[in-house]
Amino acid sequence: MQTVVLKTFDDYFSANILRTRLQHEGVPCYLFDEHTVTVNPIFGAVIGGIKLVVSKGYEETARQLIEQFEEEYTRAAVCPKCFKNKFTLVARQSPQNIFTALLTWLFGNYAVAKKIYKCENCGYESETLPTKEAVYN
Ligand SMILES: [Zn+2]
Repeated sequence: MQTVVLKTFDDYFSANILRTRLQHEGVPCYLFDEHTVTVNPIFGAVIGGIKLVVSKGYEETARQLIEQFEEEYTRAAVCPKCFKNKFTLVARQSPQNIFTALLTWLFGNYAVAKKIYKCENCGYESETLPTKEAVYN
């Protein structure tokens, strides 16, 4: 059976949440190197983190589900500035990113442009999605 690595993780919480959600949707998948990375996190950088693996036949379905989960997650976040939930994931515009773009052009998928969350309503930008706690602070 041919398998594909869908995503890699540094922590087992995120890895297991996604594995469980995919399995709940009927996609058979498993985690590889979970215990090695959890017991000794320093190995994570060496072996490439915890890998979410799926059989080739389920790859497309799994990728669509992951995209859907991420969209739902992004839509649920509330902007700490204007209190609207209008976040979208966009590529960061900075001189640093031109360098990244050049690297991407040279090395293809080995270099990935940095993405940030931006509020479409007020322009607020954040590297991570604001949590409910951030709103009340
Ligand atoms: Zn906003």
